[in-house]
Amino acid sequence: MISEQLQEIKSSLPSHVTLIAVSKTHPAEKIDEAYKTGHRDFGENKVQELLSKKDLLPADVQWHLIGHLQTNKVKYIVPFVHLIHAVDSMKLLSEINKQAKKTDRVVNCLLQVYIAKEETKFGMDFTEVESLLSSQEFSEMKNIQVKGLMGMATNTFDENIVRNEFRSLKVFFETLKTKLAFDTLSMGMSSDYKIAIQEGSTMIRVGSAIFGERDYDL
Ligand SMILES: *Cc1c(COP(=O)(O)O)cnc(C)c1O
Repeated sequence: MISEQLQEIKSSLPSHVTLIAVSKTHPAEKIDEAYKTGHRDFGENKVQELLSKKDLLPADVQWHLIGHLQTNKVKYIVPFVHLIHAVDSMKLLSEINKQAKKTDRVVNCLLQVYIAKEETKFGMDFTEVESLLSSQEFSEMKNIQVKGLMGMATNTFDENIVRNEFRSLKVFFETLKTKLAFDTLSMGMSSDYKIAIQEGSTMIRVGSAIFGERDYDL
């Protein structure tokens, strides 16, 4: 049962950790089941899928775009999105800023930092993040609010690798926090959210542990 899984995870979380229920590949009815328990934060990784589900659900759902975002799709989500987790370039950030300005919004974003050993993971390295944040271009963006960082650990059973990757992101987050108004560190999924919380996560993105296994992975 979705509602039971959700309640069980929620009741185990420290109060400073926000749970994003990752509903990708699951139909709107399943999201509604979770919604009816009072849950409001849902994550999708594809713009098209998010848009089609949004139309079927109440307006007070807080939608999180957690996957890689292409610049040409930014305009579709900017009018309503609650938080964009995976900003991985200045180009993308500047497009979000531009579209947000058109709708007179300030859009919340996280910068995705590359911490895993795998080639396939998107994100910037620490140096790229630092240079983006200290650039003139960034300081002039008035319609985005960078709230913090997002990262994905290596997909491995070796807990030490996962822990060390989360820990390095937390250290980096803390150094930036002294200079910027950061309050969100999005790290941890079904397989590793407990480790992520021990290492300082404030936001976890959990899919299969709530909704069950996905038939296919997008
Ligand atoms: C799918 C996905 C998740 C959730 O994965 P689970 O293993 O099902 O919890 C978290 N973050 C991102 C970016 C994802 O794409």
